[in-house]
Amino acid sequence: MNVLEIRGVSKTYGRVHALRNVDLTIRKGEMVSIVGPSGSGKSTLLQIAGTLDRPTSGTVRVAGYDVSTLSDSQLSALRARFIGFVFQQFHLSPSLSALDNVADGLLYTGLSRRQRRERAEVALDLVGLSHRLGHRPNQLSGGQMQRVAVARAVAGRPPLLLADEPTGNLDSEAGAEVLSLFRTLNARGITIAIITHDTEVAMACPRRIRVRDGLVRSEVS
Ligand code: ADP
Ligand code: ADP
Repeated sequence: MNVLEIRGVSKTYGRVHALRNVDLTIRKGEMVSIVGPSGSGKSTLLQIAGTLDRPTSGTVRVAGYDVSTLSDSQLSALRARFIGFVFQQFHLSPSLSALDNVADGLLYTGLSRRQRRERAEVALDLVGLSHRLGHRPNQLSGGQMQRVAVARAVAGRPPLLLADEPTGNLDSEAGAEVLSLFRTLNARGITIAIITHDTEVAMACPRRIRVRDGLVRSEVS
C-alpha cells in the first residue's frame, strides 16, 4: 500500500517555483530521508505531503485519500488519524507537563480524556520518559523535549511520521537517541520521512529523496 502518493505536484509562491511537477511515492514501512540545499523545496514538499499546505497543481493522496477533495476540517481529521509531525523546534507548550503535552495532541481523535492520558503514558514509555511525566519542557533537556514531541506525534498511532530537521537543535548524543527512536518506530511499522542535514540520519535511511531547485530525485542508498 502507498502511504503517500504525489503526482505532478507544483507549488509556486508568486514568481518562486518551490516545487516543479514532482512525482513521489512512499510505501508502507519505508524510512526515507529528504535532503538538499537550503531553499530547494524540502519544507514545501513536507508541508504538502502532510496536507498542511495545498499544491498549486497536481494530486496528493494520503492512505489512498485524494486530499484535494477534502475540506479543511476533513483534512484536520485526516491528519489526526494518519500523520504525525516532528519539527526542529519542539513546539511543546511551556506551561504543560510532558504528559499533558502528549495527551493534548490527541484532542481531535474522539478519545476520552482518560484514554488520551493512557495513550500518552504508553507513548512516553515508548520514548523512555515514563519517569518524566510531570516535568514541564523547561525542566527537560533538548533531547528529552524532542522525545516528548515524538511521543506526541505517534501517540495516536498514525501510519506516517513526517519530520523536518528533527535533530537540528540537538547535540550528537541526543540526536543519536532520537534517530534510534525513529528506527525503533519504523521497525514497529510506522512509515517515516525525514528532512535532514544530519549525515547520520541520512545514512540510517535506506532511501534518499534529493531535492534541488524544486525537482525531486529518489535514490536507494
Ligand atoms: P527548504 O526547506 O529546502 O529550505 P523551502 O521549501 O522552505 O525550502 O522553500 C523553497 C522555496 O520557496 C524558497 O525559495 C523559499 O523562499 C520559497 N518559499 C517557501 N515558503 C514560502 C512562502 N510561504 N512564501 C513565499 N515563498 C516561500
Ligand atoms: P528550513 O529549511 O529549516 O525548514 P525555511 O526558512 O526554509 O527553514 O522554512 C521555514 C518555514 O518558513 C517553512 O514552513 C516555509 O514554508 C516558510 N518559508 C520559507 N521561506 C519563506 C518565505 N520566503 N516567505 C514566507 N515563508 C517562508
